[in-house]
Amino acid sequence: MVRAATGTADRARPYPLIRPILRPGLGSCEGCGARHLQERFERALQVCPACGHHGRVPAPVRIEQLADPGTVAPIAAMVPERDPLRFDDGMAYPDRLRAAREATGQSEAMLTARASLGGTTVVIASMEFDFLGGSLGSAAGALFAAGCDLAVAERRALVAVCTSGGARMQEGIAALAQLARCTAAVAAVADAGLPYLAVLADPCFGGVTASFAAQADVILAEPGARIGFAGGRVIEQAARDQLPDGFQKAEFLLSHGMIDAVVSRTELRPILTTLLRAYGGRCARVPA
Ligand SMILES: [Zn+2]
Repeated sequence: MVRAATGTADRARPYPLIRPILRPGLGSCEGCGARHLQERFERALQVCPACGHHGRVPAPVRIEQLADPGTVAPIAAMVPERDPLRFDDGMAYPDRLRAAREATGQSEAMLTARASLGGTTVVIASMEFDFLGGSLGSAAGALFAAGCDLAVAERRALVAVCTSGGARMQEGIAALAQLARCTAAVAAVADAGLPYLAVLADPCFGGVTASFAAQADVILAEPGARIGFAGGRVIEQAARDQLPDGFQKAEFLLSHGMIDAVVSRTELRPILTTLLRAYGGRCARVPA
């Protein structure tokens, strides 16, 4: 249910809130069901040794996986907290935000940080899928745009790890406006001659695919990642036709020229390092 808007409920809150969520004990692979020690699984970058399934990685863990040890510095900002529609689908939007923060330890679905990656200082934007489906709302859009602005101001490369269900429905048109905001921010990075590298992780859909996930100079995707705009079932219903096998999988998109490479998580860091060195001359010279 959408309650009538009676004014803005905009507030600002300090960002980031990072409280690591520990998952001790045993876990199981979502690909093959094999049981594993969570600690060992996390050391293997959450890639199943039995079947190669790439498990979902929280935003701060992803940054730690990619960055040189001890170099991650989250970018502090005040983020807008908006409830323009007074949206309530059984739980009021501010309550959903509170629950997401409690469950993930994150302030928002987007985490940005400065970090060194293979010796190059970069701005990293990492999305948190477990925060309301990694949805792109006003705050996440503002954080991504601020990361782009910082990359331009300091002449850094931009690296984004994109995983999202799309625009945040609770914010309506304000969420859709973030596509334009993020697209403009990425354009400023490009206009400054700075590299932008994107990693698409499972799943990556909707407004994120339709904006900054697909606008990078180099678009990498993890094996088996589902990537698209609308979901396959919706497309089948609209087209009244059956979709090809593997439609919207990273490998299918690679074979159709939509992405540049499918890269195993264990190879992501070395490949990003190589790409950053290849582009390095355009960025600020910063000690490793
Ligand atoms: Zn497995």
